[in-house]
Amino acid sequence: MPHLIEPATSARAKCRGCGQKIAAGELRFGESLPNPFAEGETLHWFHLECGAMKRPEPFQEALAAHAEPVPEAERLGELARRGVEHKRLPRITGAERDPSGRAECRHCRQKIDKGAWRIALVFWEEGRFSPAGSIHVPCAGAYFETTADVMPRIRRFSPGLADAELQEIQAELEKPAPTSA
Ligand SMILES: [Zn+2]
Ligand SMILES: [Zn+2]
Repeated sequence: MPHLIEPATSARAKCRGCGQKIAAGELRFGESLPNPFAEGETLHWFHLECGAMKRPEPFQEALAAHAEPVPEAERLGELARRGVEHKRLPRITGAERDPSGRAECRHCRQKIDKGAWRIALVFWEEGRFSPAGSIHVPCAGAYFETTADVMPRIRRFSPGLADAELQEIQAELEKPAPTSA
């Protein structure tokens, strides 16, 4: 079974990328993976944008194979292309204020101050996403090798952030990374 794009047949499936429901009739991306419990394959569903951001390679295959026009195909294809080019971008799963002051930045290995904005990461392994720590926002440029592609992903996976908060994060992205002690 190849990766595919199709209209959701019900509103029951949850997106593996953001955890939210996919509306019935909305185009969704299905990643084909070996079924861990039985013979054959199983499909993991995503919103198109979540799939383009978090599973760029299989998404590109599905997009190329889809015979009908896909709305915003060019933008979605570009999102996926950037994620293939910058291998760590698909790890972004939102931003949050550090709750404890105990976490270590995955990039510079220094502690993240309590209350400071951090970018949360996941790793995709064996068919699932696992929490993979976080980084300082100013470390993003060095860690992802791009800053331009970071905000759309934070917006997508932290939909609860207010405009003022997003502006704070954007401003932090421009700051120099913490210097090592
Ligand atoms: Zn989603
Ligand atoms: Zn850091």
